[in-house]
Formats: sequence, structure tokens, C-alpha cells
Amino acid sequence: AQRFDGKTILVTGGAGGMGEAHARAFAAEGGKVLIGDIVDEQGEALAAELGDAVHYLHLDVTDEDAWSAFVDHAEKEFGPVSVLVNNAGIGAGGPIEDITFEDWRKALAINLDGTFLGSRAVVPSMKKAGGGSIINVSSYAGQRGTSFSTPYTASKFGVVGLTKALATEVADFGIRVNSVHPGYIRTPILGETNDNVVMGKVPIRRMGRPEEVSRMVLFLASDEASYSTGSEFSVDGGWAA
Ligand code: NAD
Repeated sequence: AQRFDGKTILVTGGAGGMGEAHARAFAAEGGKVLIGDIVDEQGEALAAELGDAVHYLHLDVTDEDAWSAFVDHAEKEFGPVSVLVNNAGIGAGGPIEDITFEDWRKALAINLDGTFLGSRAVVPSMKKAGGGSIINVSSYAGQRGTSFSTPYTASKFGVVGLTKALATEVADFGIRVNSVHPGYIRTPILGETNDNVVMGKVPIRRMGRPEEVSRMVLFLASDEASYSTGSEFSVDGGWAA
């Protein structure tokens, strides 16, 4: 038997970057995975590559109605939801004088509202399943202040608050809620970030790989993490140490 045999797993922002690595890892361990993203061609190609146990559906995480359709699809095709990975996110930053209200609201909408809407949408399904695990992807920036990133940092600290409040609320239903805090991970979101920048800040002198974050996400999703909830899990090469 594999760790996620028969389990229904939702991954937002799963068409690319770290979310894609998580979707692949869950599928490789027997999970039935529903990927939600806004890049349909990429998502459909990935689902086709991974076979019948992986579906892709268009999901803008800021769209309240789209979330009910997303969870309905998962329940109909795969059964009650066991795992939600709130991974979709965007970078946002710059000197505060240059950040428009619109930039601010967009970062908060995708990174924080999206996590709220997703969590709210799956709790009834997880109660039906008799338990579940929600993994909220925050960041190093959800644990420490970094300059030129007020919207991103505020949104990622917000994810931590949501995680802790919800964890205390749903523990009685067997639902665990934790946050994961990646440091510098080599994905498109980092753009041209220079390796030398990373080497000066990170004790393990390299960027991380998406798969190194997937291993933490899968651990938290599994019964191995049965006594962990409301906690912050760093995968950052020691940056926050
Ligand atoms: P990425 O840009 O490669 O992937 C993000 C995915 O989210 C993309 O597939 C994108 O299409 C999707 N997405 C964007 N807006 C969406 C929306 N409104 N609805 C649904 N999907 C949407 O980025 P990544 O590096 O893989 O980031 C994944 C998560 O990890 C994000 O929450 C990010 O903030 C966080 N993170 C990344 C790093 C890093 O170094 N890469 C570090 C810390 C935290």
C-alpha cells in the first residue's frame, strides 16, 4: 500500500512550479489529485501526462463560486477531500511608495483570501471524510520581515494567523492545519534571483528544489504528522534559523 492510496488531494497553483512537484509526488504515492490553476493549457497537459488519477480544473483561488465547483468535482470524481494544499501564490514587492493599492490588494487576494476560501470550502468535505490535512504554503516571508515586500510579507504572515486559528477550531474533527515556509526555491516566481544573493543568506549555500518542499508537504498530509497542527514548518536551508 502507498501513503495516499484512495485519498482525494487538492493542489492549487498545481500546474507549474512547486505545486506541480507536489501534484506529481502525491500521484506517485497513490493519491487522486485535483489540480486547480489559471493556466489551463499547462494544467491539462500535466493531468494528461499523469493519467486518470489526476484531473485539472480551472480555478482562480480568489473566486468564491469556483471553489464550490472545484470541491464538487473532487467529491464526485474521487470522493471526500482528505488533503488541501493551498499553494497558489504570487510575488509582490518594491519600495512602499511604488506599491499601488491595486498591487497590495491583488497579493492579499490571491495569497490570503485564496487560502481562506479554499480552507472554508473543504472543511465540510473533510468532516465527511472523518478528518483531513490542510497545508498552507506561506514563506520565509511569513516568519521574518524582509525589505521591499510589504504586500507579500503581510499576506504570508496572514496565512500563518489563519492556519493557527483554524487548527485550533477543527482539531476535534480530526482535521490538521499547518503552514510550510519555503526559502529560496528554484521556480519561475523567483525570476532572475541570483544564486550569490542566496549563498550569502542561507547556511545551506544553495537554492532549494521544489521536490525538497514536496517531501515536507507530503509528510504533513500523511498520518505520520498525526500530532502536528497549527505549526510552522520551514524548508529554507536554515535561512530563518
Ligand atoms: P510559481 O509562480 O512557479 O507557481 C505559482 C502557481 O500558482 C502558478 O502555476 C500560477 O499559475 C498559479 N496561480 C497564480 N495565481 C493564481 C490564482 N489566482 N488562482 C490559481 N492559481 C494561481 O510559484 P512557486 O514558486 O511554485 O510558488 C508556490 C507557492 O510557494 C506560492 O504561494 C509562493 O508564494 C510560495 N513560495 C515560493 C518561494 C520560492 O522561492 N519559489 C519561496 C517561498 C514561498
